[in-house]
Amino acid sequence: MRVLLVEDEPTIAAQLTEALEAAGYAVDVSGNGVDAHFQGIDENQPFDAVVLDLGLPQMDGLTVLKKWRAAGRTMPVLILTARDNWHEKVAGIDAGADDYLTKPFHMEELLARLRALIRRASGHASAELVCGDVVLDTRHSRVTVGGQALTLTSHEYRVLDYLMHHPGQLVSRSDLIEHIYAQDFDRDSNTVEVFIARLRKKLPEGVIETVRGLGYRLVSP
Ligand code: CA
Repeated sequence: MRVLLVEDEPTIAAQLTEALEAAGYAVDVSGNGVDAHFQGIDENQPFDAVVLDLGLPQMDGLTVLKKWRAAGRTMPVLILTARDNWHEKVAGIDAGADDYLTKPFHMEELLARLRALIRRASGHASAELVCGDVVLDTRHSRVTVGGQALTLTSHEYRVLDYLMHHPGQLVSRSDLIEHIYAQDFDRDSNTVEVFIARLRKKLPEGVIETVRGLGYRLVSP
């Protein structure tokens, strides 16, 4: 899953990036409203969620959010608001935010809210995603098969996480690339095939189906 983090405070941005990456997300960071608007409005950059600070230089977060929504961008957005500023929360939710957190916040709470937004956006109510014997626990970024823990690299996890959020759906190689790498990452579409091949060795046979020429589909065998 890929997250756009919009935060102008370098220390907070660095802490958030580290925590998000540790939780298995690909993270793009933006430090001002104009750049954030540009990134979030680009349909070729399909973010699974956005963490948006409202107090930003160049263009404030509320304006950025309104412009995204006016342009039809529907990705889940979690806003970060100043403490004791209840009307900012109301304005943010009315502008199209899906959830908010008040600064300062606990990282665990931000991660939990983000997980919930992402799973609801893909129609899942539970923090555990299940496909046959395969269980992916989004809370701990852990995968088990028949109760046995799997050891996955961070990119293998991202690929499986994306597929588990979209079971039964055709997922193209370019979808996977867009959702497992941040923009400035050196993307190589062949690596997706490598990750899929490695995952297949670790998962029960037939869980990841190849749709010839189109991509992959997660099926419960
Ligand atoms: Ca700020």
